[in-house]
Amino acid sequence: MKHFAGEPIGDQVGPTSNAEQRRKLARVHRALKTLSAGNRTLLHASDEQTLLQDMCRVIVEAGGYSKAVVVYAEHDPDKSIRWMTDAGVDKALLQTFHLTWGDTESGRTAVGTAIRTGEPCVGRHILTDPAYAGPAHDLMREDAIKKGYRSGTAFPLRIDGEVIGALAMAAVEPDAFDDEEVELLSELADDLAYGIANLRIREKHRLAEETIARLAYYDAPTGLPNRTFLLERLEEAMQEAKQHHRPLALLHLHVGRFHEINKVLGYRSGDRLLQEVGRRLALAAKEIETLAHVGEAEFAMLLPGANADQAIQMAKRLASILHDPVNVSGLKVDATVSIGIALFPGHALTPEALLRRANAAMREARPTHGGYAIYTGGQEEQHTRRLALMGDLRHAIEHNQLLLYCQPKVDIASRRVCGAEALVRWDHPLHGMILTSEFIPLAEQAGLITQLTNWVLGSAFSQCYAWHEAGLERPLAVNLSAHDLRNPELVDRIRGLFSTWGIGPELMQFELTESALMEDPVSAMETLTDLKQLGTQLYIDDFGTGYSSLSYLQKLPVDYIKIDQSFVKPMAVSDDSAVIVRSTIELGHNLDMKIVAEGVESQVQWDALASLGCDVAQGYHISKPMPAEQFMKWDTNWA
Ligand code: C2E
Ligand code: CA
Ligand code: CA
Repeated sequence: MKHFAGEPIGDQVGPTSNAEQRRKLARVHRALKTLSAGNRTLLHASDEQTLLQDMCRVIVEAGGYSKAVVVYAEHDPDKSIRWMTDAGVDKALLQTFHLTWGDTESGRTAVGTAIRTGEPCVGRHILTDPAYAGPAHDLMREDAIKKGYRSGTAFPLRIDGEVIGALAMAAVEPDAFDDEEVELLSELADDLAYGIANLRIREKHRLAEETIARLAYYDAPTGLPNRTFLLERLEEAMQEAKQHHRPLALLHLHVGRFHEINKVLGYRSGDRLLQEVGRRLALAAKEIETLAHVGEAEFAMLLPGANADQAIQMAKRLASILHDPVNVSGLKVDATVSIGIALFPGHALTPEALLRRANAAMREARPTHGGYAIYTGGQEEQHTRRLALMGDLRHAIEHNQLLLYCQPKVDIASRRVCGAEALVRWDHPLHGMILTSEFIPLAEQAGLITQLTNWVLGSAFSQCYAWHEAGLERPLAVNLSAHDLRNPELVDRIRGLFSTWGIGPELMQFELTESALMEDPVSAMETLTDLKQLGTQLYIDDFGTGYSSLSYLQKLPVDYIKIDQSFVKPMAVSDDSAVIVRSTIELGHNLDMKIVAEGVESQVQWDALASLGCDVAQGYHISKPMPAEQFMKWDTNWA
């Protein structure tokens, strides 16, 4: 224990008077009282700052000391001292203190010394003690005179052997803080340090628990609740809904561009897309609604109390909120969401089943139908079949099990064959021929379309070369999907095929549906321009179903418009269809494009198209699609 030099020695030698004895006893008594009040404070402490405040208050109020202070030692270059809290200290005085615990003149204050030495610094006579004579104590001596306190002590606060700060207090008498009192109060300081350590451990545990809970229930890139959280919340919401005989709706959203962006721009950009989508969705959700990030590119929203109508309203709202492009790595990207809706209790009675059904509905959502769909029975079974088929399709592409068919196109005026369309077929070893309307969308969903297109391109080029070698010059048209238009490698690949097979650009053509072009008009235009530069001829396929504007159409570098079969087939019986066919032919001719009618099934249609000046016909009336190797024979017979 450190005592200042010059401390009066009267306490240790000479006869002690009765009065002195009584004062001594009173001091021990107040220290004991402080100690026990301090212990009660420790027991009730819930956080560190409150503990420090309560402790100072108890020292002054219960112990009767004139002031109490807690400071912490900083480990900055100045070894400064942070004033944590106090009781009975003049705040104006505080402003003027620049405390340090460094080994310098200004570090010789009581708290500075206690921190530096790790021993209590006792000053029984502030005004006369030579240790308090230095300039470091000028302010304190002034204050002691003004406030009428005469002695003071600072105790180190130690956690795990390290001094973290000091507890200091002052008393009115000029000779307080004898050995016994200092010993008792040291115990108080140790208790306080123990209490601080305890609270810090508790806080660490709390933070760790919070982190664990966050990891278990929240998702890192978006900060949104995850699937586990949603399922638990859904369980509660279902119970409540059941009790109050109310419905609830679950929306399942898929962000269409996520995988592509991840692949092309990197996972950071993918995350950024998800964050922005999550942010917009969160803005649309009311407080009682739960938004969760439930899969890589998937979000779900729980709408307690909502019926089908309200769920549809919300789906429309979300679709419109996500309509504005998202800025990702300097690019404007359409998020293109599909939304599936499932309702409790109508569609499912358990959280997992409801989520599954919302998911199944989501796969049926089409941009042309608002981008959302409500669950209808059977979607889930279909979904299971589709999943199995996806695996089979990958296998079929990799093992060359697809077939190339082609369907002739005939010039109406001359009746001459003017080319053929390449159409892919899949003869599944178990299920037989799978409809293209089933497996093309499947390939798009499964991210297999690039591989499929590559297979078709390879086969079409090789077929075209074979005809060319045999003396038959027939352009073959390959269908490209919306996905292909966004594939930055497509054009290079096609260029490579031309040089590999050495056939002229007039022998290979490309068909792109109007709706694929409209999905992303800007990048579609770029790809078309590049293809055009190779010297190939291009078709707008399924014209009339894709809502393109005349001004966009005018700018497109295409050579042919293919009128969709849904207008051609009924043109003999429906005036509306006949009008559409006629005006499309006129429009195309005004734009210097040729017109192909597809789905021509009868002589009546052929004649009608001929009289309207349609250029080319394709359909069962001429020929059904046939295996590519039969085409040459058919061509010869037709002539
Ligand atoms: P599409 O490009 O409009 O192809 C024409 C579809 O109409 C073909 O169906 C063809 O068999 C059918 N069709 C032709 N003439 C008639 C007719 O007179 N009556 C009727 N009822 N149908 C006729 P398919 O081969 O099942 O293809 C369906 C769609 O699948 C195609 O529509 C095309 O969008 C897509 N598709 C086919 N092959 C490929 C391909 O290799 N790549 C890509 N990306 N899509 C393809
Ligand atoms: Ca086509
Ligand atoms: Ca078509």
